[in-house]
Amino acid sequence: KAEVKMRKPNIAVLGATGVVGREILKILVEDNVQYNEIKFLASAKSAGKTIEFKGEKHTIIEATPEAFENVNIVLASAGGSTSLKLASEAVKRGAVYIDNSSAFRMEKDVPLVIAGVNDEDLRKHHGIVANPNCSTSQLMLVLKPLHDFAGIKRMIVSTYQAVSGAGLAAINELRENTIAHNEGRDFQCEKFKKPIAYNVIPQIDVFCENGYTKEEMKVTNETKKILHLDEKTPISCTAVRVPVFHGHSEAVTIEFEKEITPEKAREILEKAWGVEVMDDTENYVYPTPRDAAGKNPVYVGRIRKNIAFDNAIDLWCVADNIRIGAALNTVRIAEKIIEMQLF
Ligand code: NAP
Repeated sequence: KAEVKMRKPNIAVLGATGVVGREILKILVEDNVQYNEIKFLASAKSAGKTIEFKGEKHTIIEATPEAFENVNIVLASAGGSTSLKLASEAVKRGAVYIDNSSAFRMEKDVPLVIAGVNDEDLRKHHGIVANPNCSTSQLMLVLKPLHDFAGIKRMIVSTYQAVSGAGLAAINELRENTIAHNEGRDFQCEKFKKPIAYNVIPQIDVFCENGYTKEEMKVTNETKKILHLDEKTPISCTAVRVPVFHGHSEAVTIEFEKEITPEKAREILEKAWGVEVMDDTENYVYPTPRDAAGKNPVYVGRIRKNIAFDNAIDLWCVADNIRIGAALNTVRIAEKIIEMQLF
């Protein structure tokens, strides 16, 4: 039998010094991703400094167009404006650019992929592959098997999002605001429009003309693209920032086309890939962000029949927003691209 030889890619981690970038490096090691060469790219500010990876120190390189020469796969988490500048440069030089920003997610010829949900969409890539927004990502692993069984008719989502979704500066702002509050000192709000310590903020990203925020519209539009839902499927989201370091939570109401009981939904989710059911209210078993921080699964609990709609289920899902919401899915996409030899 002829043996198919798997090519190993040269990898570049763009934004290697950031919250998402550092997590990507950890997961590349955990998953033992096979590559030829690896380089670490960031802004001019970090160029020349070193970063530790697999017990060795590596020099950080400035992300110029030339830095992508001979790179096959870019794992990018350096913000939308950087991607708008550099993705085409990387693609021009033959790389597949896996992007964590929202810059290309809704473009027609850019696959928006959650590994294990719509892998086949990767075959349609033209160089750029987009990683969905963190709130969308965790929801997809839960919704896909339920949608396959009963068909989503409409959905309402409320999110409770951790500050780590807004980067290192936001993590520091929660820490510093909390200490200042406890010591009775005044404090500055820079990353958030309101104090984040001991507070919740019903705004993530900027407001759109329809009264929703951009973050809320990302959940709506990205869900339809990933699950190949009808454009007209009604989906509404309210996205809220909460004073939690790691782990996004979501309260979700899903109305289905076909009858589905909470028992059936639980049974489906218990078998679903990437999902772990924590649902035993008698014993106070349900997931919280502290349960999910640093872990890979999307945790689901509070699965119950919704009493306001005809054929609907309510559930609560929690996941590490930097893992499944960003770094983990980025690495999983890279692994699929290697496995399917799409680079
Ligand atoms: P962060 O902690 O602020 O890190 C930003 C990274 O980008 C740093 O490595 C930084 O390098 C680099 N960078 C900034 N400007 C650059 C430039 N002009 N050229 C090259 N590199 C540059 O932010 P983060 O939380 O890791 O987020 C990074 C990206 O991931 C953002 O696009 C964010 O929207 C996205 N993200 C996506 C999800 C998701 O849902 N998929 C979740 C979280 C974050 P220096 O250290 O040299 O400045």
